[in-house]
Amino acid sequence: MNETYDVVVVGGGIAGCFAAATAAANGADVVQLERKSRERGGFIACGDAMKSPRDPKNYPGPIDMAAIADDPAVFTNDGIERIEWWDEEVGVRKAIPYSDGSNVIDRYEFGQRLLEATAEAGVTQHYDTVVNGVTHNGRVTGVEAVRAGEPVTYDCSVLIDGAGAQSILQDMVPFDALDTPAEPTFEVPHYTHFGSAYREIIETKEPVEYHDAIIGKPLEEMGYVWYFPRSPTRINVGLGFQMSKPPIPLVDRLRRDIEDRPEFQGATVAKRFGTGNKIGSSIALRRPLDSMVAPGYLAAGGAAGTTHPITGKGIRGAAYSGYSAGRAAALAVEDGDVSEAGLWEHNRWLYRDHGEAAKLAAWDAYNVAASSIEVNVLRALTALLPEEELREIVGTKRNADGFGSTMSLAIGVLRNFVSESRAGTFDTLGVDRSAVYESVIGLKRTRDYVADYERLYEDYPSDPSDFGGWLADRDRLDERFYDALELSSAERKY
Ligand SMILES: Cc1cc2nc3c(=O)[nH]c(=O)nc-3n(C[C@H](O)[C@H](O)[C@H](O)COP(=O)(O)OP(=O)(O)OC[C@H]3O[C@@H](n4cnc5c(N)ncnc54)[C@H](O)[C@@H]3O)c2cc1C
Repeated sequence: MNETYDVVVVGGGIAGCFAAATAAANGADVVQLERKSRERGGFIACGDAMKSPRDPKNYPGPIDMAAIADDPAVFTNDGIERIEWWDEEVGVRKAIPYSDGSNVIDRYEFGQRLLEATAEAGVTQHYDTVVNGVTHNGRVTGVEAVRAGEPVTYDCSVLIDGAGAQSILQDMVPFDALDTPAEPTFEVPHYTHFGSAYREIIETKEPVEYHDAIIGKPLEEMGYVWYFPRSPTRINVGLGFQMSKPPIPLVDRLRRDIEDRPEFQGATVAKRFGTGNKIGSSIALRRPLDSMVAPGYLAAGGAAGTTHPITGKGIRGAAYSGYSAGRAAALAVEDGDVSEAGLWEHNRWLYRDHGEAAKLAAWDAYNVAASSIEVNVLRALTALLPEEELREIVGTKRNADGFGSTMSLAIGVLRNFVSESRAGTFDTLGVDRSAVYESVIGLKRTRDYVADYERLYEDYPSDPSDFGGWLADRDRLDERFYDALELSSAERKY
């Protein structure tokens, strides 16, 4: 079978829905392909923590997020006020205010509403459709798939890759063989740029005391364990680590974490589709791709790396990058130019107009720096940092600029240094005070690099012909940063 559309969107996740609905609302004839059944659409591994659903900057486009946000089956806990960091072994607790309408959601119900809204926007949806090939002819021209057991070829002007982190499509698109005036700007990310994460939904007998907070706790590798309460008695518990580190057996590690906790005694795993509601997946923990476009092809969401590189939160990034991809695809179809230059609007809008991709790219410096130090030193550093500093690292707003903020960092660290020394934190963690001191200096330096990266990304090229020069500047900044961190070439992330 052969079918033809202006735009083919692969993936029925957040990026896929925002992309498909936006392209359709802008006049394109769109099909969305999802390997799962209609009933299982939106059943996706997630911690379910979601930032400010009513803010149109986070969730632009035709999908009525305010209406979805009013659905109590979706936004099951809109009383989240804090992010808390618990390092229980050393008795450290940090609380960061998180009071801007954030939620813990039922990701499945959310996914179902998004798929409905996408259909209402005029998108044709094919479920039970596994994409297993990409067709091309100088540009990407479509995909090959198996729909309910039957082979189907979908031809299109633009393919939008919303297939998630470690998208299989990126193994199938021959980026080097497509027609680009210079080197292709799209580069497939390395597996070490991803994390592996797993979660269960656990029903407790009694309400948990942290029903109004999302909780993070350290792991033995760069990563964290979380307890995100969907309701006072229904907790999303999970964990994830970055794949640049030795693998952690996630299921066993989670069991070990929760088995002795009083609130989980007698708790059960909530059932869904009879699977026990236990699922895992990979997660992008890198900066957004330098370029998310190739001739006839756009990437969005996990496939484009629009996830927060420290927290791993990617719902919001998937939504606005999906919107951007749908918009750019429809514009390019209308203009009759689906070349790299014709689709460049996707990169330009995300990095320059919307700007959040630039922030994520800059914030990745924190991921690089944190990965470069020993995990117990990182825990000691976290214990020392004032809440304001932690808030900046897990967000994307830069308050830490100038002399005043450096002074307040120094004073906060000093105060905490005295109390943590008295509490024996450094001895329990087995870390040398000089290593901790070095890490504080390293943090200040990383903050300066974050500012440098942010300035550079704000100058992201409006046109692909300027990309090579811009990229050379960015790579030089990477080199300076890596040298400052004293990373060997094998330890460099990119
Ligand atoms: C365990 C875990 C916890 C997380 N916790 C949070 C959190 O608390 N908050 C937050 O904001 N973010 C969180 N994230 C990240 C967030 O879930 C992702 O960033 C986001 O889901 C990315 O959305 P997406 O639409 O790009 O991809 P996905 O949600 O992965 O959707 C991709 C879709 O494409 C489909 N697909 C893939 N390949 C094919 C194919 N070949 N053919 C057809 N269909 C295909 C899949 O079935 C899927 O439906 C978490 C991620 C994980 C793994």
